[in-house]
Amino acid sequence: MKPDHPQNTAPDDAGTRRAVRPVVCYPPDTLPAPEMALYRAAREGLQVISSVTVPPREARCFRVAAGQFFRIHSVDGPQVGDLNLWNANELSERFYSGKTRALHGTHLSTGDRMWSCFPYMRPMATITHDTLDWYGFDAFGGSVHDVIGTRCDPYTHNLLSGGGQYHHCCHSNLTRALADETGLPLAEVEGDVHDVLNVFMCTGFTRDTGQYFMKASPVRPGDYLEFFAEIDLLGALSACPGGDCSAEHSSDTAACFPLLVEVLRPAPGALGAWTGPSVNGYDRSHGA
Ligand SMILES: [Zn+2]
Repeated sequence: MKPDHPQNTAPDDAGTRRAVRPVVCYPPDTLPAPEMALYRAAREGLQVISSVTVPPREARCFRVAAGQFFRIHSVDGPQVGDLNLWNANELSERFYSGKTRALHGTHLSTGDRMWSCFPYMRPMATITHDTLDWYGFDAFGGSVHDVIGTRCDPYTHNLLSGGGQYHHCCHSNLTRALADETGLPLAEVEGDVHDVLNVFMCTGFTRDTGQYFMKASPVRPGDYLEFFAEIDLLGALSACPGGDCSAEHSSDTAACFPLLVEVLRPAPGALGAWTGPSVNGYDRSHGA
């Protein structure tokens, strides 16, 4: 955080320097555009082919083939979810929260994409419907579905609580779920768990200190976030121990509810000649 009492005196032209207008780092105009008209047409004939209920303070994995859709539903009460995505055929290709944030902003909605890490860097999934898109940004600068938080985890909790051992943070839930799904040891898969998309979570940065904040999620049963799978996906979703994240996480204090994940198939032929994205075209020679 910035100091209340800086050690250095502002220069004479401080006002001029601060008044320089910002430039958006990555204007998305030249990104390959998602085929939203095609996806919108395809979602008209969707059929649920599988579903998994994520119990409170737990995580579950699910698989979605390229060209299918998946939805994350709020069911019994306000609940936020922490989402990880991997290439189902290559776990080293995983969701890159930081670059997705740089490209689409701090909070995602319809038309935004979840990008994979280097050297793959391609869209893994495209958001095709968001029942909370009406929320926008509130007066505190808060919004839903952020790519700014990382996930609640037992290591940060250990430091902040003076040695606490809590085992149902999203990081641990995702680690257990991935170990169960792959049959690999916990220690081996823990490094594959990565920074998340915070589904339904309402977050922002305080205007005065720039600190990460959360507030009660506006999500209600019936709300959902829908994605189109651009590649074969292995997903994992944790129902955060913070519940609606109105007060605290990393404990069993908050009221928590399940989340429902549905995998949906479009009608045969609905995607026409659609083909999934290739891995990134950079030649990886790095100037050597
Ligand atoms: Zn969490």
